[in-house]
Amino acid sequence: MRLLHLAVSNFRNIGSLRMEPGERFNLFYGLNGQGKTNLLEAIYLLGSPRSFRTSRLPELIKHGERMSQVQGAVESAGIRNKINIMLETTGRRVDIDGKGVKRASDLHGRLNAVVFSPDDTSMVKMGPEARRRYLDRAVYTGDIGYLYCWHDYHRILKQRNHLLKCSDKTGLDIWTEKLAEAGGEVVERRLSFVAELDNKLRRHYATIADDNETSRISYQPEGVQSTKREPIREELLELFKRHESSDERYGTTTAGPHRDDLTLLLDDRHLKAFGSQGQQKSFVLALKMAEMDNLQEIFGEPPLLLLDDMSSELDVRRNHNLMEFLAARDIQVFVTTTQRSPALLDNDSHRAVFRMEGGNLTFEGK
Ligand code: ATP
Ligand code: MG
Repeated sequence: MRLLHLAVSNFRNIGSLRMEPGERFNLFYGLNGQGKTNLLEAIYLLGSPRSFRTSRLPELIKHGERMSQVQGAVESAGIRNKINIMLETTGRRVDIDGKGVKRASDLHGRLNAVVFSPDDTSMVKMGPEARRRYLDRAVYTGDIGYLYCWHDYHRILKQRNHLLKCSDKTGLDIWTEKLAEAGGEVVERRLSFVAELDNKLRRHYATIADDNETSRISYQPEGVQSTKREPIREELLELFKRHESSDERYGTTTAGPHRDDLTLLLDDRHLKAFGSQGQQKSFVLALKMAEMDNLQEIFGEPPLLLLDDMSSELDVRRNHNLMEFLAARDIQVFVTTTQRSPALLDNDSHRAVFRMEGGNLTFEGK
């Protein structure tokens, strides 16, 4: 997949910007607060229904403006498309080759991107919500059907929680059953994704960290032992029934897939409690590499890699190991740093360098 051309207007601090990225490595350097991450966010938005930084799209519109636009010429599976994203305070519109599209699935797979940023590393230390958010995003990037069943699940959850707060709880059983049904699909898809990722993770961790420790990621949904949708549905129904009285007491659904967590292990010990900072970074980077390979298997070509704030994320050794990974794959990479010449990309002739200053981008050469 390739981004061939990009035009951005009124997006965060970027007033107006046009660029032609290089085919392989693109470096955006600039001081703090100049708009480097904003640019990655704009690129990401061309292929994804959500930003990787916020769930509130209006935040993306430049202060004082009414709308924002991101346009990209992209290539996937040998086909070129023009994607046009228009953001207004009321929502977003997407055109592909001049035709409006309604469903997220129409955009899906035209420009896949994996982001690695400082925020990702902190998911190891943070609570379950951060890891769930990571998991949900990673699953729907490869499997858009997941996004729909995830939305269904949360819509039903909202209804059930609303009813739990009412004095008249007529119909609770029906909502509980619907929730178990939608939950069965959510959990089944998460389980199969995590199993795939876990297979790939070990090799990448060993590569990136030069480390013999065994890395593992696992997902053990509460109250669920099965891996197939129907038995999962039954187990979830059981779980919801078991918690019904506490749900009524608290006025909310206290257990279920919306509360689940991911377990990250290094040599069978919890990464969160026992991993060093370097090990945690390597682990998350290895997860991203596994995700990239997974997407390559699904779509037949690798996604873009958006590597944010590389200077703070990667030391010399990890840079080197990541470069070897990238060199072996035909990946278009967008890197941001605060310095013009990080060790990464130094010897690579296929790179384009851009300077970002106050939302303005200047091409500085190859
Ligand atoms: P760092 O190196 O610190 O990560 P950066 O170059 O990645 O910096 P960005 O996060 O891309 O910086 O941009 C931050 C700037 O964008 C801030 O000055 C912020 O005030 C500005 N900004 C964010 N949202 C908007 C918006 N909606 N309208 C205008 N400016 C915005
Ligand atoms: Mg930044």
